[in-house]
Amino acid sequence: MSSAHGGFYGLGIAPGLLKKLEDLGYETPTPIQAKGIPLANDGKDVIGVAQTGTGKTLAFGIPMVQHLARVKGKGLVLTPTRELAIQVRAAILPFARAFGIGSAVLIGGEPIRGQVRALKKKPRIIVATPGRLIDHLEQRFVRLDDVKIVVLDEADRMLDMGFAPQIERIMRKVPRRRQTLLFSATMPTEIMRIASTHMRLPVHTEIAPSGTAAEGVSHEVFVVKRDLKVSLLEKLLKQYKGSVLVFTRTKRGAWVLARSLRRAGYAAAEIHSDRSLAQRKEAMNGFKSGKYRILVATDIAARGIDVEGIELVINYDLPDEPGTYVHRIGRTGRAGMKGHAISLATPDQGKDLRSIEKLIDMTIELSEHPEVPAETFGPKPRTAFQKKFARYKSRVSRRIRRKR
Ligand code: AMP
Repeated sequence: MSSAHGGFYGLGIAPGLLKKLEDLGYETPTPIQAKGIPLANDGKDVIGVAQTGTGKTLAFGIPMVQHLARVKGKGLVLTPTRELAIQVRAAILPFARAFGIGSAVLIGGEPIRGQVRALKKKPRIIVATPGRLIDHLEQRFVRLDDVKIVVLDEADRMLDMGFAPQIERIMRKVPRRRQTLLFSATMPTEIMRIASTHMRLPVHTEIAPSGTAAEGVSHEVFVVKRDLKVSLLEKLLKQYKGSVLVFTRTKRGAWVLARSLRRAGYAAAEIHSDRSLAQRKEAMNGFKSGKYRILVATDIAARGIDVEGIELVINYDLPDEPGTYVHRIGRTGRAGMKGHAISLATPDQGKDLRSIEKLIDMTIELSEHPEVPAETFGPKPRTAFQKKFARYKSRVSRRIRRKR
């Protein structure tokens, strides 16, 4: 036996799939694969706490293909975004093909006709975003009464995006006797509720404690005034060489920033929800091929970006939610490589940074750029109303003290 695929032995993987792993150059299972695959191959319901970049797609993809090779019926994967759905299907495709198992992607933003045509070929693996799957269900283009295995991928993000009602509806359409695998980077109580309603005594495999940032990633933060962020970003872009993923909080912010970077002569593309699926695909492919060195993204659009070798992730805006920081940082230092994360914070965001540090359980180093004036964290500036109210309060308490 070649030692090249030796690492995947002993996980209960069928020989045909081991061969495919070897052909594709996968040598050693990642921790989520080493823990998750044997449990899932054993038919257990599994909760995997793992962020993107940990190899979680094959952790459920391999057991799904193996299961479907044995029994009739379908496998269903629900993902929060279109991009992730496309990537999941692409990752599973070589394995499914080896067993003659067809697959289809059902996502919004694309004409439904092509998807209906794909469904006529009776695919046995369906990768879908919840909204579009419900459209297909309502129009009876697809049936889920023969689903044998369901995967909820990036479940926390699906909930963040408000998909809980759609997930409930879909889960009511699949048979009760089935296997369910749930993957999530964080474990809010709502996920535990979904798990307890829809899963049979799930086995919990925690690859890294909920919220742990990828290993091998170094972090630093610059505290600067808002209007100096662009010039600091440009200086950082000169300092680093490789591809850079930049996160903004809003789609407008992404658009404005990408435009100003292009004007400054950088090859920058942007992905956010105002761009069509074709434009997002072009941006992603251009980023992968090196046509664009910089990809500016909002959190929702960036979900599931699977590009190897991102040297640097820049949080141009700190995320609203500390959990999002973990998701963003999952894009650098993937599959054992080194990565770096730089955040630009404004002086009023000390509290936000502390919540992130608490979640990832580490202190993020404060840096200063020699050419950009550094600030320190201070109290949030108060609104005119808050200032007026504070003056009123001190006047009243002075009066009370005088009376006493
Ligand atoms: P995922 O977390 O599933 O999005 O996977 C992240 C990246 O890791 C993908 O580009 C995979 O091709 C890669 N990957 C998955 N499993 C392995 C493995 N066992 N060895 C090396 N790379 C892997």
